Amino acid sequence: MTDLSSICPRCLLEKASADFDLTEYMERVEPDARSSEEEYASRLAVCQTCDYLNAGLCGACGCYVELRAYTAARHCPYEKW
Ligand code: SF4
Repeated sequence: MTDLSSICPRCLLEKASADFDLTEYMERVEPDARSSEEEYASRLAVCQTCDYLNAGLCGACGCYVELRAYTAARHCPYEKW
C-alpha cells in the first residue's frame, strides 16, 4: 500500500505521487460517463481550494477526488460542484 503521509495535503495524486496513479481506474469509466476536460479541470480547481482535500482524498466522502471528478454523474458531497 502506498504511503500517502508525506504528500502535501493540497496536492492531487496526479502531481504528488509517482508510484500511485489513478489511470487504471479512470480508464474503467465508460467514455460516455466521463466529465469533459473542462468540467474535470473546473471540479478539481474547486477541490484544490477546499479544506476537505487531503493528499488527493476528499475528507468528506473518502473518495479520490480525481476519480470522482472524472465521473460525470458524481458530485461533491457538499455540492461545491
Ligand atoms: S469533493 Fe467537495 S468536499 Fe470533497 S474535496 Fe472536493 S470540493 Fe471538497
